[in-house]
This record gives sequence, structure tokens and C-alpha cells, in this order.
Amino acid sequence: MNGGLIGMTAYTTPQLIDRFGRTVNYLRISVTDRCDLRCVYCMEEEMQFLPRAQVLTLEEIGFIARAFVELGVQKIRVTGGEPLVRRNIMKLMHELGALPLRELVLTTNGSQLARYAAELKAANVKRINVSLDSLKPDRFRQITRVGDLKVVLAGIEAAREAGFERIKINAVILKNRNHDEVLDLTRFAGDRGMDISFIEEMPLGVNSDHDRAEAYYSSDDIRRDLERHCTLIPTAETTGGPSRYFRIQETGTRVGFISPHSHNFCHLCNRVRLTAEGRLLLCLGQEHSVDLRHVVRAHPGAMEILKQAIRDSMAIKPRGHDFNLAAQPVIFRHMNMTGG
Ligand code: SAM
Ligand code: SF4
Repeated sequence: MNGGLIGMTAYTTPQLIDRFGRTVNYLRISVTDRCDLRCVYCMEEEMQFLPRAQVLTLEEIGFIARAFVELGVQKIRVTGGEPLVRRNIMKLMHELGALPLRELVLTTNGSQLARYAAELKAANVKRINVSLDSLKPDRFRQITRVGDLKVVLAGIEAAREAGFERIKINAVILKNRNHDEVLDLTRFAGDRGMDISFIEEMPLGVNSDHDRAEAYYSSDDIRRDLERHCTLIPTAETTGGPSRYFRIQETGTRVGFISPHSHNFCHLCNRVRLTAEGRLLLCLGQEHSVDLRHVVRAHPGAMEILKQAIRDSMAIKPRGHDFNLAAQPVIFRHMNMTGG
């Protein structure tokens, strides 16, 4: 049970149910669109970030998170941009960590983890995902454009020392950039007791770095590569998202495949996303959204009005996404706006 609620019922009954009968109990919050890296599949080299006034304040984010928890959300993931570059982020993490959640989790590029890992654990963060696409310093630099592999590896070590329930590595695999590292990345994670998920690139935002169809390396390709060296045992575990998990017999750790192209997952979708500017996105692959920044700024402190706007948003959650590698992206926001 989380802090502050000892003796109380931990979770509120789910109240967010969409037209297709799916219960929404998972909120992903992008706390900033900014980042200290420029990964080629996520951002352009030169990015125009949001003016500060358009970004939700930490207080507004905390208030919106509380509304969701009162409506039955049990899991919150904090993401970005890079969440740990947001000023005073730990204040928000402590606030979220005191909510009656089943779990508070974080997705980070690891660049600031050496500084923050212990405090994140103290703030009740249960699990963290760290993005790592290569173990070769030059290649890591190429993919992130500016990143330093050493710093991220030190961040991962700090997270291991801090004692999170689980650490997972996320790797976006691109053909001819890093597809030859899937085994090394899997071993790196497995040797350290960490899980790993391989992600197919999604067509979010215009990408001038590479041709997405040409760089596509499917989850099935990755799985075939791994199965030459280790035994993958299918598990029934699901997070209600696009991941399918396997247990690696040799290490006991898990490998997941996030396959928006090759495996449709929308019928299980249990999540919504809050962007840094306060747009509630009902689907990662569609533009349906509700402007919660407008709601909280027009009615400061009015929890019931906010909760009603969130309940009403369920009516526009679409049935599913519509990714198509061959076509131009239909979604023009980059992943840093959305939070992954
Ligand atoms: N900065 C943090 C990080 O990199 O983990 C959190 C935000 S990042 C947008 C969240 C995840 O989205 C990362 O694992 C990243 O690799 C992934 N991602 C970014 N752009 C993507 C794209 N176009 N397709 C698939 N995954 C993407
Ligand atoms: Fe930054 Fe994460 Fe996007 Fe890379 S994937 S540019 S680390 S937000």
C-alpha cells in the first residue's frame, strides 16, 4: 500500500469505461517535451520546443493526476521528452508517489539517473524503463546524436543499486543501425537481472533522418535472431499494451516485443496519455484529444468539472490506431510530445 492511505481502501472503483467496454486504469504523463538527447527516430536535430506558458505547471499535472486516480486510475507512468530534465521534477514525483496507486513508474533515457535514482526510489517509484539502443559508444552517439553511453551506463548502475522492483531496458531496433546488437543488448540486460523490450519504430512526426520503411526491422526478425542463441518461453503476461513477453530460459529475465505494425493490440488498450501541454490523447496513433489545460485554467481548483471532462473524453476514445509504414505519417506530433 502506498504512503498516506494506510487503513483506507487503496483504489477507487474504475469509472473510466469507453464505448468499446475497455476500462482505462493507466495514465501516461509527459511532463516535458524537452530532452537532452535527440534520438533519430524521435526528434529532429533542431527542435522547436513549447513555450513555457503552454506547458502544464507541476501543480496542474499533480491536480490532473489526482482527478484520474479518483476516477480509478491505478497506474501512472511519468515520461517525456526526458522527464528528469524538468525543473523540480522530484517535487511532482513525491506528490504522485503519495497517491493511492498500484504503481508509479518512470520511463527515462538514463542520463540523469546517477543523480536521481535513490530519490526516485524513495518517492515510491516501483519500476523504471531505461532506453538504450546500443552498447557501442560511437553508435550510441549516432543514434542519440549527442548522447554519452558512459553516462547512461552509470545511470543504469545507480538504478540497480537503488533497488527498484524491476528495471527494463527499451531498445528501438532499426535495420542496419543496431539490428545486429539484439543479442548483446539481451545479454547485457539478462546478466544484470533486467528485462528488455524491443520496439518497432512508429511513424510519429516527420523523420528526415531515415526512411522508416527501409529501417523497419520487425519483432519477428528480432525473435528469430534471438532464438538462434537462447530459448524463449512464451508467457501470458500482458500490460494491456502492445508488448508480448517471453521468459528467457537461460537468464530467467523477460524479453518483450512492442510491435505496433505486426501485432494489433488496440482491443486490450487500457491507457490514455497526457501531453506536456495538457492535451489528453485517447490513442497514441490518432489525434482524438481533449484540452485539459483549458479545463484546469478556466476552472482553477474545480475537481468535479475536471473529472467530468475526463469522463466525457471516454466517448471519443477510438477503436484503434492506423499505422501504415508505406504512407506519410498521419500523426505529425513527435514521440517527445506524446510520451511513448
Ligand atoms: N526520454 C525518455 C526515453 O527515451 O526513455 C522517455 C520518453 S521516450 C519518447 C519513450 C520511449 O519512446 C523510448 O523508449 C523511445 O525509444 C521510444 N520512442 C521514441 N520515438 C519512437 C518512435 N518513433 N517509435 C517507437 N518508439 C519511439
Ligand atoms: Fe529524448 Fe527519449 Fe526522444 Fe530519445 S527517445 S530524443 S531520449 S525523448
